[in-house]
Amino acid sequence: MNDNESRRLARAQLPEGVRPETLAVRLALAPSQHGENSEGLFLTSTYVQPDAATSAQRFAQMEDFTYSRTSNPTVRSFEMRLAAMEGAEAAVASATGMSAILLLIMATLKAGDHVICSRSVFGSTIGLFGKEFAKFGVETTFVSQTDLSEWHAAIRPSTKLLFAETPTNPLTEVCDIRALADLAHNAGALLVVDNTFCSPALQKPLALGADVVMHAATKYLDGQGRVMGGALCASERLVRDAFAPVVRTAGMTLSPFNAWVLLKGMETLHLRMKAQSAATLAVAQWLEAHPAVSRVYYPGLASHPQHALAMAQQSGLGGAVLSFDVRADSPQAAREAAFRVIDSTRVLSIATNLGDTKSIITHPATTSHGRLSEEQRQAAGITQGLVRLAVGLEHVDDITDDLQRGLGR
Ligand SMILES: *Cc1c(COP(=O)(O)O)cnc(C)c1O
Repeated sequence: MNDNESRRLARAQLPEGVRPETLAVRLALAPSQHGENSEGLFLTSTYVQPDAATSAQRFAQMEDFTYSRTSNPTVRSFEMRLAAMEGAEAAVASATGMSAILLLIMATLKAGDHVICSRSVFGSTIGLFGKEFAKFGVETTFVSQTDLSEWHAAIRPSTKLLFAETPTNPLTEVCDIRALADLAHNAGALLVVDNTFCSPALQKPLALGADVVMHAATKYLDGQGRVMGGALCASERLVRDAFAPVVRTAGMTLSPFNAWVLLKGMETLHLRMKAQSAATLAVAQWLEAHPAVSRVYYPGLASHPQHALAMAQQSGLGGAVLSFDVRADSPQAAREAAFRVIDSTRVLSIATNLGDTKSIITHPATTSHGRLSEEQRQAAGITQGLVRLAVGLEHVDDITDDLQRGLGR
């Protein structure tokens, strides 16, 4: 690279050892000649090359900017910032969380390879591994989120990938990242962790031994319910040699506009995760004491089966998603009671999303888990009386007042 190029790809100048909160606000490419303080939004599909020889060199090396399916300065700033926050050498962005997993599978697996995946992960993740890629000869065994012996027993010579998500949706089950990393490495496989629920503000899977961190940036990285996005964070070698070439050919590229929105979202990530976790704990404690509620699922509660592990892995915070079961005598009565809670709200949004400043209330049995049979739902612990709450930034008392409307006197 000549001087011009290295200047263009230079990072914003930061002292060594600045802390994650600072990286979340500051890390990006250096500003343009205009000195903009907010990162520039480069809405351009291509880049003018100074001459044919430089163009040839850039296309050959995949460095600098050639075409926005391959890379874009705003997207690059998002990748650099996220990698720094996760403690990763590099990151690659994608259009959605699911396309990050699509990219992961295309880049690391081939027909005949075997995957072990928790059966409690995000529904579309189960569909992508278990159905779509089964067609291409990738076999996936689904195992218990929390029982390590099931992961161990599922290992085969062809096992290439262990995929986990922690905590899970909606029951907030927590798995032991370090133990799964050891298991994966002893089998010569990679451990991939979907870190969407905690974000790097609470949990850093790479520091616990994971090889790849996956994100639905749609959730807490944006944090304000605006755009879709995804990413994989890993070693420079994996990103450069395995992931980036697949994005270049297959095109699950993040839009520069979305990358810019995500950069702004990440600047407040630490504040939001702390505030939303504190509010969620308060709501969880309030629900646990409520006579109309039979059980609350939240890693921040001492009653959570993996409370100690969660606190050790998640910086002592439970995150911003909880679920609860309303008390009822039959599945029919439970569904009616859950619907009454949801329909009585006047502040919360009835929607399928999480990670927003606006709190969201959901009935998993008829939405995210609606395509399962009743038997599968029972096995997964998704009862008709289960209500999921993704807590935002409203006043806690307004959230509990809203729930009280439907939980009765
Ligand atoms: C939302 C979500 C995804 C998928 O992300 P999209 O951006 O919706 O494609 C994957 N994993 C988890 C844990 C999620 O919450």
